[in-house]
Amino acid sequence: MGGSTSLRGTSVIVAGAGLAGLTAAYELQRRGARVTMVEARNRLGGRVWTRRDGFAEGQHAEAGGDMIDPDQETIRRLAKNLGVTLSPILRGGFAFACQAGRTPGVTRVSEASGLWGELAQAAEPWVRAHRLNERRWDGPIAQQLAGQSVADWLDSIGARGQVRARLNGMRGFFLADPEHLSLLALVDQLATESSVLDHFYRIRGGNDRLATALADTLQEPVQFNTMVRAVAQHRGKVRVTLRRRGGQSHMAADALVLALPATMARRLAFTPPLPAPQRNAFRDLLYGAATKTLLQFDRRFWRRQGKSLAYGTDLSIGAIWDGNEEQQGRGGILTLLAGGSTSRDTKQLLAQGGAEAVAQRLKWLGATKAVLRASCHVAWEEDPFVRGGYAVFQAGYDPEQRAWLSRPHGRILFAGEQTSLRWQGYMNGAVESGLRVAEEVTILLATSRRRLPGGAR
Ligand SMILES: Cc1cc2nc3c(=O)[nH]c(=O)nc-3n(C[C@H](O)[C@H](O)[C@H](O)COP(=O)(O)OP(=O)(O)OC[C@H]3O[C@@H](n4cnc5c(N)ncnc54)[C@H](O)[C@@H]3O)c2cc1C
Repeated sequence: MGGSTSLRGTSVIVAGAGLAGLTAAYELQRRGARVTMVEARNRLGGRVWTRRDGFAEGQHAEAGGDMIDPDQETIRRLAKNLGVTLSPILRGGFAFACQAGRTPGVTRVSEASGLWGELAQAAEPWVRAHRLNERRWDGPIAQQLAGQSVADWLDSIGARGQVRARLNGMRGFFLADPEHLSLLALVDQLATESSVLDHFYRIRGGNDRLATALADTLQEPVQFNTMVRAVAQHRGKVRVTLRRRGGQSHMAADALVLALPATMARRLAFTPPLPAPQRNAFRDLLYGAATKTLLQFDRRFWRRQGKSLAYGTDLSIGAIWDGNEEQQGRGGILTLLAGGSTSRDTKQLLAQGGAEAVAQRLKWLGATKAVLRASCHVAWEEDPFVRGGYAVFQAGYDPEQRAWLSRPHGRILFAGEQTSLRWQGYMNGAVESGLRVAEEVTILLATSRRRLPGGAR
C-alpha cells in the first residue's frame, strides 16, 4: 500500500485548500490519483495567510499560522522536499510579561520557564494519571479531567496569583480562558511538552510559500470561490454539490477528502447522514476567538541586548513577538495574538483608538519613540470560512468525541488540524492529517477495487 502509482485510474475531490487539503492533494496525486481541489476562498492557505499589503520596505508578516516548532519534523521535511527554506527565529524563546499588581500600565517581565515549571509540578498527579492512561481521550481518567475547567482546578489547589497570570498568558496559545479550557487540554499539553522551546522557524518569504509550492505541483488548478454544500454517496461514488458564483453545480469522484474546519463540515448535508456521535463531535467542538494584530514600526525597538524577542503576557493585547526578524530593513513588525476573551478586548481597543491605541500599550517594551508606519488585523472568529482560530477543547467536551473527528464516513475522509492528536492547532497537525488521509484513501480504494472481479468499480 502507499506505492507511488497505487491510485492510478482513481479520482478524488479534495475540499479546502489549507495545508491539510493541499498536502492531501499533493500526496494523492503523487500516488497516481486524479485530484480536483475546491476552495471557498479566492486564495490558497486557509489559516496560513501571509500579509504583504501595505507594509513598507517590502516586509511581510503572518496573520495566521506563524511559528514552526523544532520537533515538527513532518512540515519541515515537506518544506525541504518542495525547496521551501525555513529561517530560525525567536532564539531564546518566550519570556513572560504580566501586569504588575494593581498598578495600571506597569508590566513586569520574568522568565517563562520558572512559572511553567511550577504549573507542571502542581499538575503532576494529573499528568501522571494521564500518562498511565497512555494519553487516551477516553476512560474515567480522561472523563474526570475533561469535566473540569482549568480555572476550577486552580481554585481547588489554591494556586497563587502568578501561576494564574501565567495561565491567562496562555490564552494566546490555547485561544481560551482558564474558565473555559478543559483541564484535559492543559494536562495533555504538559504530558507532551518536555521543555519550554528556545527557538522556532518560519518560512523564508512567507509561510504561504508552502501552500503555493504544494499547489504548483497539482495538474489541475485549484477551483477558487467554490464551496461544498452537500455530499451524497451512492454506488461507489461520492457526489458533491457545489456553490459557485455562477450558481450550483455537481461533481463526482471515487472518494472525497473534507479538509475543512469542523465549524464548516458541520454545515454540510450528508447523505447518508453522519452517525450521531460524529455529528455531535463536529457540532460540539468550539473554535477559539483569536485576533492577530500586525504593527509595523519605523524601528525595531524591542531588539535590545539581553531582551527577549517574544512574550507570553496576561495583558489584554495578548502574546507579542517579533513578526519578521528574518527580513531586512530598518523597520520591523511586531505580531500580537490575543486569544479567548483578549480577542474581544483587542477588538474594542482597535475600534476605539485604532492600531495607535494598541501601540500605546507597548511602552513597557520601549515603544515610546517609535513611529507606527502600518498595521493590519484579522479577527479569525469573524472569518466566514472558519469562525475561530483553531479547535479548543472546552470543559465539558466529551473526550470520547475526539476520535470521531477523524473517522471516515464511507468514501468521505476527514483532514484538518482538529483531527490531529499530537499537533492539533498547528500547521504541522494539518500537514500530518493530509498525509494520513492520503493513506486512508489509498487503502479504501484498493480495498473497494479488490471486492469486484477484475478490479472494476
Ligand atoms: C491566529 C492564528 C495563529 C496561529 N499560529 C500558529 C503557529 O504559530 N504555528 C502553527 O503551527 N499553527 C498556528 N496556527 C494554526 C494553523 O494555522 C492551523 O492549524 C492550520 O493552518 C490549519 O490548516 P487546515 O488545512 O486544517 O485548515 P484551514 O487552513 O482552515 O483550511 C481549510 C480550508 O477550507 C476552506 N473551506 C471552508 N469551508 C469550505 C467549504 N464548504 N467548501 C470548500 N472550502 C471550504 C477554507 O476557506 C480553508 O481554506 C494559528 C492559527 C491562527 C488562526
